[in-house]
Amino acid sequence: MTDYIDTFINLGYILASILFILGIKMLSKPHRARQGNLVSAVGMLIAVVVSLFECCLTFEWVLVGLIIGASIGVMAARLVQMTAMPQMVALLNGFGGIASLLVGWETYHSESAETIFMSASILLTVLIGGVAFSGSLIAYAKLAERIPGKPMRFSGQQPVNAAIIAAILLGALIFVMNPAAPWSYPLFVVIMILSLALGILGITPIGGADMPVVIALLNSYSGLAACAAGFILLNNVLIVAGALVGASGFILTGIMCKAMNRSLGNVLFAGFQTTARKIDPGAGQGEAKAISPEDAYYVLEAARSVVFVPGYGMAVAQAQHAVRELGEIVANNGAEVRYAIHPVAGRMPGHMNVLLAEANVVYEQLAEMDSVNPIMETVDVCIVIGANDVVNPAAREVASSPIYGMPIINADKAKSVIVLKRSMASGFAGIENPLFYKENCRMLFGDAKATLQQLIGEFKES
Ligand code: NDP
Repeated sequence: MTDYIDTFINLGYILASILFILGIKMLSKPHRARQGNLVSAVGMLIAVVVSLFECCLTFEWVLVGLIIGASIGVMAARLVQMTAMPQMVALLNGFGGIASLLVGWETYHSESAETIFMSASILLTVLIGGVAFSGSLIAYAKLAERIPGKPMRFSGQQPVNAAIIAAILLGALIFVMNPAAPWSYPLFVVIMILSLALGILGITPIGGADMPVVIALLNSYSGLAACAAGFILLNNVLIVAGALVGASGFILTGIMCKAMNRSLGNVLFAGFQTTARKIDPGAGQGEAKAISPEDAYYVLEAARSVVFVPGYGMAVAQAQHAVRELGEIVANNGAEVRYAIHPVAGRMPGHMNVLLAEANVVYEQLAEMDSVNPIMETVDVCIVIGANDVVNPAAREVASSPIYGMPIINADKAKSVIVLKRSMASGFAGIENPLFYKENCRMLFGDAKATLQQLIGEFKES
C-alpha cells in the first residue's frame, strides 16, 4: 500500500514539474502567456495537494493558513492598481524569501540540524531567504516611492558590506561544522540578522535605471531560497520549482543587464552614478517645441509608417486601449504600424507586453528594439507615449551621462517624433532628455490617455 502511495506522490510531482516547465515555456510568447500562467497554476495546485498527502500532517492549521493567505492574496490582486503591480511583485518576492527563512528557522528548532547536509541546507535557506526578504522590501519601497528611488549610500558602505559577507561566511562555516554545539543557536540568529542587514545594505545603493536588474535578481533569490527549503523538507517538487524560479530569474537578470549594457558586478558594486540628477552637458540645448493635438493629427494623417514607443507613462495613464485604437485608425488610414518595446520600459520586466496584450494589440505589430532601430530612419512618425529613459539619446551621445552605453530605442532618428507626456519632468533615472530639444521633435503635453483620445476624435471628425 505504501508503495502505491509513494508512486502516486512521485507521479504527482513529476506531472507538476512538467506543467511548471510547459507554463514557463508558454510565457515566452505573448499570445500564449495567459494559458502558460494557468498551466503553471494547475501544476502548483497538484504540487500542493500531493505535498499535503506526503507530509502526514493534520490539515487544520494548513487550511487556516490557506484560507487567510488566499483571502489576502485575492483581495490584494483585485484591489491593486495596474501601476502598482511592480511593487506588488517585489513584495511577493519578499514573501517567498521570508517563507523560506521561517521554514529554515522552524526546522532548526524541530529537527536539530545534526548532519552537515541538514545544517548547510538550513543555513542556505535562512541566508538567501533573509537577503531576498529584506532586499525585496527595499525594492518595494523604492518602486512605491516610499523612499527615494535614487541610489542611497554612505561613505565606507562597500567595506561594511564586505565585512558583513565575510562575517556570514565565517559564521556559516563554524555553524555547519558544529551544528550541535551549545553556542550554535546564538550564532544561527546572528547569521540570520546579518543576512537581513545584507539585503538592506546591498539593495539601497542600487537605484535609478539599474532597478530592473535588481528586481530580476531578487526574484531569482526567492526561487533559490525555496529550492534550499526543498532540501530541508526533502520535498522534490519544491526543489524543482525553486530551481526553475532561480534559474529563470538569473536568465532574466542576464537579459536585463544586456538591455542596460551593464555587467551584473557593475550594477551590484559600482552603482548608478549619484550625479544622475544633474543635467547632462549637451542636453537641454535650444527650446522644446510644443504641438497641439490638431497639428499632431495632420502629421499623423499624412504618415505612411508609424512607430509607437510605450513607456511607464502609458501604464500611469492606463492608455493602452487608446493606443491600440489610434494604432488601428492609423493603420486603416494606410500607414504601416509597429509598437517598439524596450526590455526595461515601465517598472517591471515585460510591463509593456502585458499592457499591450491586455488591450489586444496585434502580436505581429510588436517589434523588439533590435529589429526596429535599423529601420527607424525610414519611419515617418515615431510617437513616444510616456516613455523617457528608454528613448534618451544621451545614452548614445553624452559620454558623461549615467545611462551612457545603455541601448535605447532610437526614436530621435525617425523623420518626426511626437512625445506624449505631461511636462518636461525627467523619467525614473532622473536625467534630462536631449530628445525633447531636437529639431524633429514636438512635445504633445497632457495625460497620455486624454491626448490619445483627442487624436482619435480628430480622426473620427475628419
Ligand atoms: P520613464 O520612467 O523614464 O518615464 C516615464 C515618463 O512618463 C515620465 O517622464 C513622465 O513624464 C511620463 N508620464 C507619467 N505619467 C504620465 C501620464 N499620465 N501621461 C503621460 N505621460 C506620463 O519610463 P520608461 O518606460 O521610458 O523607462 C523605464 C525606467 O524605469 C528606466 O529607467 C528603467 O531602468 C526603470 N525601471 C524599469 C524596471 C523594469 O523592470 N522595466 C524596474 C524598475 C525601474 P511626465 O511626468 O512629464 O508626464
